[in-house]
Amino acid sequence: MTFELSDRVQTVPPSGIRRFFEIAEERDDVISLGVGEPDFATPWAARDAAITSLEQGKTSYTANRGRRDLREAIADYVADRFDLGYDPDEEIIVTAGASEAVDLAFRSFVDPGDTVAIAQPSYISYEPGVIFAGGEVLPVPTDEEDDFRLTVEGLEEAGADEADMLVLCYPNNPTGAIMPAEDLEPIAEFAREHDLTVLSDEIYAELTYDGEHTSIASFEGMRERTIVFNGFSKAHAMTGLRLGYALGPADAIAAMNKIHQYTMLSAPTTAQYAALEALDSCENDVREMVAQYDRRRQFVLSRFREIGMDVFEAKGAFYCFPEVPEGFTAEEFAEEVLREQGVAVVPGDVFGAGGDGHLRISYATGLEDLREALARIEAFVDDHA
Ligand code: PMP
Repeated sequence: MTFELSDRVQTVPPSGIRRFFEIAEERDDVISLGVGEPDFATPWAARDAAITSLEQGKTSYTANRGRRDLREAIADYVADRFDLGYDPDEEIIVTAGASEAVDLAFRSFVDPGDTVAIAQPSYISYEPGVIFAGGEVLPVPTDEEDDFRLTVEGLEEAGADEADMLVLCYPNNPTGAIMPAEDLEPIAEFAREHDLTVLSDEIYAELTYDGEHTSIASFEGMRERTIVFNGFSKAHAMTGLRLGYALGPADAIAAMNKIHQYTMLSAPTTAQYAALEALDSCENDVREMVAQYDRRRQFVLSRFREIGMDVFEAKGAFYCFPEVPEGFTAEEFAEEVLREQGVAVVPGDVFGAGGDGHLRISYATGLEDLREALARIEAFVDDHA
């Protein structure tokens, strides 16, 4: 028997990142700068809280929207860190990773035929998410010349004034770009002027190395048209615990909760205890990890410059996005440096418009490995000069 696959599933190609992992898994000498997850373990206090909750037998479902004490802690945290005011009862939903929240938003707000503008290069899940929801993707490329920041000109050129929704991710995966308040303000104005709903993925908000993160929802008139996504995977090194959340107006969060309550019931309970502790007592752990990422960032940027590869000054997340030297496409470079030198990187094309000719380098890897990986990339570039 063969299954008849839905058109939506068939339209979406398999992840371009996975293919490289598969090649990398065939050998044991590969250093991977390919994965987008922290190399740190979850801070001990958060792990301990999870263990204690299990010991106490706290293994039931929680409220659909997540434990109330966790929602309260999230409300306090986002108020304190990002100047965002959300009501824990009506305007916050705790999800199985930010990934679930992103999917819920597409399914809650996108009708077949709606156009969703996505600032690109960007995280690989938005485009499939839009397609699974029946929407149409409008890529809005960003340029290295603008430090990969989104501009009103870019939005206009792409025709985003006609779109229904705009998806943003700053600090950005894969470029490491950030959007300072002064650059975000005209984007907020554009969204208001053209009546766009905004989905703002701020999962890397804690990971900025030059200036503080500003949320687009904090601008006047934006809170009512924006859903903010955040979570514990990146700053708190909790990827495997699968915990994220969305913030938004009550009716929007209620719509997302309608899908969530039928499809997920509630986010992982053990992870909710870990997250509560993470917000309560792990600020110093986050600060220490951020300091280490920053050291690695500076090291990687300076090594690429020494090697002679152009790289813009990534200021957030844990990625940098160097240009591929002449004579290679990004895909060729990634494939050959993996085969010849055993270094896994991701070609920029997989992240959409504006990503070609670049490589995504994750520095969520220890300095020793980064040193060795950069030496191998240098050898590769020298061999092919
Ligand atoms: N958004 C972005 C921009 C990401 O890079 C990732 C993880 N790579 C996610 C969301 C998914 O996060 P989570 O683990 O919370 O589902």
